[in-house]
Amino acid sequence: MKPILPGSAIGVLGSGQLGRMFAIAARRMGYRVHTFSPDSDTPTGQVSDLEVAAPYSDLDAVRRFARGVQAVTFEFENVPAETAAAAAECAPVRPAGSVLHTTQQRIREKTFLQSAGLPVTPFRVVRSLEQLDTGLQELDTPAVLKTADFGYDGKGQFRIGAASQAGEAWKSIGEREAVLEAFVKFEKEVSVVAARGVDGSFAHYGAIENEHRHHILDLSISPARVSSRVRRDAEELARVVLEKLDVVGVLCVEFFLTASGELMINELAPRPHNSGHLTFDACVTSQFEQQLRAVCGLPLGSTDQHCPSAMANLLGDVWAVGEPDWVTAARHGHVKIHLYGKMDPRPGRKMGHLTALAPTVEEAVRSVISARDALARRATADTIS
Ligand code: AMP
Repeated sequence: MKPILPGSAIGVLGSGQLGRMFAIAARRMGYRVHTFSPDSDTPTGQVSDLEVAAPYSDLDAVRRFARGVQAVTFEFENVPAETAAAAAECAPVRPAGSVLHTTQQRIREKTFLQSAGLPVTPFRVVRSLEQLDTGLQELDTPAVLKTADFGYDGKGQFRIGAASQAGEAWKSIGEREAVLEAFVKFEKEVSVVAARGVDGSFAHYGAIENEHRHHILDLSISPARVSSRVRRDAEELARVVLEKLDVVGVLCVEFFLTASGELMINELAPRPHNSGHLTFDACVTSQFEQQLRAVCGLPLGSTDQHCPSAMANLLGDVWAVGEPDWVTAARHGHVKIHLYGKMDPRPGRKMGHLTALAPTVEEAVRSVISARDALARRATADTIS
């Protein structure tokens, strides 16, 4: 297969911050970027050559879009399977629609992982309240009930503390097809962002350590503070996932790490991932450039990391009492500010992130948190004065 060269146009299904950072990386290498989603003036659209606003169900519009580019990728895995299939009639779609199909539904994803012999959180498929009761007897409490269709960032989830809460949990997720998972008392959460080329070549960014707050990623730290055995196991498991799924592109594997050193796969994201944002500043090739290289059939780039790094998300909450203090944050000279061009800073909405670079991970964490605190502190002082 001939590589798709700079000057070509790449189509992105979805238009959020992942597409925006992909577009920035692609434009830097001289590619054109077209984006397709139901919205306009989007984070991706703002930095793209062409923004198409149409519903994903408008398959004629999807075909027209795909005819105008040399390859299609996505930044949002909940694109309907028919949309990916319609695009594939007109241009190569990478990763393929089959990868989307497996990873956009928890039952399919977990069944795939289990049948590939990969370690997953113990789970039961639940399609009725009776099955939920049985599942709770088998797995015990606490447990987590999650809708089969992905909500993300903890949406569509209910933590069940006692079997008597089954009815309440079932109602709360809308009485929909679901998986019941054992609640894992993990010591750490880690992820591996990895890429696979058209020729089967493989690259990864090593284990990244993640801290969540209210189910939303708060902080990522690289390299993760785990043993070299855990690091190697996580990297090897990621390699097997990408190979078995036949991914061409970037995929992130999220793990729970137990106190006894056991890794369990929590979920897969078949695209660049929030935990890999720090690769933009900390690595020779960012996860976004890597996606571009994989999608275009170019050799994958080096994932070498320049120095330890930490990333802190900026949610809409940072704007709660007014415009954040960008000037004070910018005084942290080893902290990079990333904003996604979103107009409406609602609480919990991902508006941007900060990445700190430092000689040690501990310093990187301190620095990124201090820069983020500075943003919100000034806003508070302004309201008081
Ligand atoms: P998810 O949307 O499934 O990735 O869940 C978001 C976050 O909720 C995870 O990153 C964990 O912090 C927590 N969580 C989800 N499932 C479980 C589980 N089975 N056991 C413990 N914590 C969980």
